[in-house]
Amino acid sequence: MTTSVNRSNAITSITNRVATASSVNFSEASPETVFGCNTFNLAVMKEVLKPETYDSLLKTIQDGAKLSATVADEVAEAMRQWAVAKGATHFAHVFYPLTGLTAEKHDSFYDPGSDGKTNISKFKGKTLIQGEPDASSFPSGGIRATHRARGYTAWDPTSPAYIIENANGTTLCIPTSFVSWTGEALDTKTPLLKSMAAVDKQARRILKLFGHEKIARVTATAGPEQEYFLIDKSFYYSRPDLLAANRTLFGAPPPKGQEFEDHYFGEIPDRVMGFMYEVDRELFKLGIPTKTRHNEVAPGQFEIAPLFESANLAADHQQVIMATLKKVAQRHGLVALLHEKPFAGVNGSGKHVNWSLGNSTQGNLLDPGDTPHENAQFLVFCCAVIRAVHKFAPLLRAVVASAANDHRLGANEAPPAIISIYLGDQLTDVMDQIKAGGATTSKQKGTLVIGVDTLPELPKDAGDRNRTSPFAFTGNRFEFRAVGSSQTIARSLIAMNTILADSLEWMAGRLEGAKDLNKAIQALLKEVIDEHGAVIFNGNGYSEEWHAEAKKRGLPNLKTTADALPALTTPEVVEVFEKQGVLSKTELESRKEILTEQYEKHVNVEANLVAELAQTKIYPVAAAYAASLAEGVAKIKAAGGKTSTMTLERVAELTARLEASIAELKKVHSTAHGLADWTFKVCPAMLQVRAIVDELEGLVPDDSWPLPTYQEMLFIK
Ligand code: ADP
Ligand code: MG
Repeated sequence: MTTSVNRSNAITSITNRVATASSVNFSEASPETVFGCNTFNLAVMKEVLKPETYDSLLKTIQDGAKLSATVADEVAEAMRQWAVAKGATHFAHVFYPLTGLTAEKHDSFYDPGSDGKTNISKFKGKTLIQGEPDASSFPSGGIRATHRARGYTAWDPTSPAYIIENANGTTLCIPTSFVSWTGEALDTKTPLLKSMAAVDKQARRILKLFGHEKIARVTATAGPEQEYFLIDKSFYYSRPDLLAANRTLFGAPPPKGQEFEDHYFGEIPDRVMGFMYEVDRELFKLGIPTKTRHNEVAPGQFEIAPLFESANLAADHQQVIMATLKKVAQRHGLVALLHEKPFAGVNGSGKHVNWSLGNSTQGNLLDPGDTPHENAQFLVFCCAVIRAVHKFAPLLRAVVASAANDHRLGANEAPPAIISIYLGDQLTDVMDQIKAGGATTSKQKGTLVIGVDTLPELPKDAGDRNRTSPFAFTGNRFEFRAVGSSQTIARSLIAMNTILADSLEWMAGRLEGAKDLNKAIQALLKEVIDEHGAVIFNGNGYSEEWHAEAKKRGLPNLKTTADALPALTTPEVVEVFEKQGVLSKTELESRKEILTEQYEKHVNVEANLVAELAQTKIYPVAAAYAASLAEGVAKIKAAGGKTSTMTLERVAELTARLEASIAELKKVHSTAHGLADWTFKVCPAMLQVRAIVDELEGLVPDDSWPLPTYQEMLFIK
């Protein structure tokens, strides 16, 4: 019988662990002094740039004015001096390729002088503005053949450059767009910026209709809530599936799971608090306004959310947040798992993307105020969202499609794959009135009386919350909850901004030139609710009834990536992206191809792991146990004793079935071709193996089980 030492060693190392020494002390270095200290932000620029240089850079940042070569040179030199004073030896153009990850190419500031001794640090405007990484290994989805590898990075002055620290030095990081030699976007930033321009243009048309004299640039805003798991790194390194696929491919449900709801918003464990303080401090240094932190639903699951920012900045910052969670976890002997479903049967991790529109002159355009029925401007924007989400529901499902997110959508606290909108009682009531001919009242908020004299009366929100909705109105913004925890938020934001721009354009077209604007608005809102109101649903998104009802309403239920990805290139989607100037047909096709490829690659790795682990780790243990049971039974019988063969028979049968299921998996794996095969043949074959392994886990002696269990990984810290 083999004995697994890995698991007991892992537990011993955690038991003997000495707490990470204090690495952060906010009472010595307050958040005020730390915040933004490593970003080349407006305050720094104002201090170090000549006033006229600062003014023209500000014009570029705020209004998109073209940057002159002299200004670029001056900014580059100021940036270099600032970075070098902070110990930087290198700079990196940071970009966001279609893998959804962050990429960076580092160059040193230094050039040797002709005397062979001096090393001169230089940074020209040209180098700040444009880089040319060899892009051949980034997916382009057919846009660029490998032998034509040119890709260009272009400085995005709207996202501040920042310094990344390492114990051995620091690097100046410059957020950039990434495009091909032929000008197509190879990244998520370029179309995100274009989608923001599109929605700004159309939103201002609507605002103009309402007679505003001063209308500042309208910005799409985003505030992403990031869920993640933390497990001890000793367990992580004993689980090849976590190491290579970021999720557990085997694991029986633990005796205790999340059913007590004792983890959610519970007291944060000390070790995790230490980690969270350090994460916050690192993010503060980069000017990332993290705001909330708490335990999430599943044991070992947590959440971090920053204050909302411009969508472009929020997307860049979100990438840094993910990287920081992973980096800081390592320092605390932990691993941060950002996978959408690292553990079957418990809560998955999502990223709720809170999203709105606003500007400095009219404020938040999705704020209904106290009497939304009178707030025609709000109703126009809100109905534009309703129309957009209903018309382009398949697109919204497609932009969150991935092998990992397929496991999450529709299971344990995650919204279902049916895209619907939760509006809440108050707004639904207003929409119902509009539908019936005109809104005259708004249900009022009221107060919540707690019934304890010493407690204040609380103002009650006009709408409750609904956790099961994929697209929920949450008071003054919408929250897109189908986004996966490891995904870039840029893809969702690009889609949301683009389809909203389309709706606003359509509505502006209908309202501009109307003789009686009020009447025209009433009629238009009614038309939107009549045609698109089917997407509004305030009930329980998990229920069977909803699935049946959604079908009746004609709402698509695209359960898998294979079902969802075709939506990326349907004629309506191509038309809206091209019309809004965000992505071309070629760019959309390339994106679909890359997502397809990524899906196949992920499932391929998982299938390899399942077959290998089942064969080399589980089978030997199960077979040895069956043999030892058989030996025991034979011995007892030989001695004339009575014994049961129940366990022996079950283990022997499962061991035989395990072999057969591995063989079957290998067969479908080796012949898989196309997304449908991977989804509907390979994935189920992996689950077949898993079901057998998970049952064996409950039969085989615990001290010989080779993989850390769910119980251990989720509860021991
Ligand atoms: P909850 O868990 O209650 O939904 P959180 O406080 O965890 O809320 O997160 C809410 C997120 O919504 C925060 O990032 C917040 O900054 C963001 N948010 C608030 N207002 C807006 C807005 N106008 N536009 C975009 N995001 C917003
Ligand atoms: Mg939320």
